[in-house]
Amino acid sequence: MIDAQIYSARSLLVVGAHAFDAEVIAGPLAAQAARRGVEVTFLHLTMGEQGHTALAPAAYAAQKRAEAARFAARLGIAWRDLGYPDAFLPDDDAVALKIADVIREVRPDTIVTHWHGSWHKDHRAAANATKTAVLYAALPTLERAHPAFSPSLLLFGENWEDDEGFAPAHLVDVSEGFETWREAIVEYELARGLSSFPYVDFYSALYRMRGCLNGTTYAQGFATTSHSFNAGGGMFAGARHRPSCGCGGDA
Ligand SMILES: [Zn+2]
Repeated sequence: MIDAQIYSARSLLVVGAHAFDAEVIAGPLAAQAARRGVEVTFLHLTMGEQGHTALAPAAYAAQKRAEAARFAARLGIAWRDLGYPDAFLPDDDAVALKIADVIREVRPDTIVTHWHGSWHKDHRAAANATKTAVLYAALPTLERAHPAFSPSLLLFGENWEDDEGFAPAHLVDVSEGFETWREAIVEYELARGLSSFPYVDFYSALYRMRGCLNGTTYAQGFATTSHSFNAGGGMFAGARHRPSCGCGGDA
């Protein structure tokens, strides 16, 4: 059970490719975490400004910034964006360094981002860049504006577009956060019928289905990192994982 680890932590960072992605891969989780006093930040790598049937990208980007702000206000969380163009998010070290700078500044105990198995190139790029960013944030020899920092937990959230090989290792109770999410998500036109995909129906049913399997009303599913990734992160985190500390564990 990672519920206590997430909800008793100081800080949570959710990295989404497009504004509205963080809101679905970790929206109810963020709402519940904020209620418990966790400082939550959403980082949108792009605003997801392509694809509106009537608005030009610049106008839709402005609309989505307003929607992101209203969603965040309802949850009582912070948000920021990196301003990359929708559909052209680079899968490169420059993006990873910008995410790493945010990690070093916010110092999140838990980070949630996309699962890499996605048909959407921006989602794959976000997943790759965030994993690299965790490495860059932790590298003590990499000098940036803020000192090195390593999160305790990196999770990959559930998104309908990221379903290639997604298998949740953890189900987290989000029952306290669901209603807040349900009321906040309709701040986005995407959730009010702009898309032909029935987002609210899909995600409400998904969170309920995960809850059925978790023994709670609602739950969100998360995949996690490999043992080797965790061991590597532990190397940069200091002596706590090293056998030389005498315990060989987390103590
Ligand atoms: Zn997206």
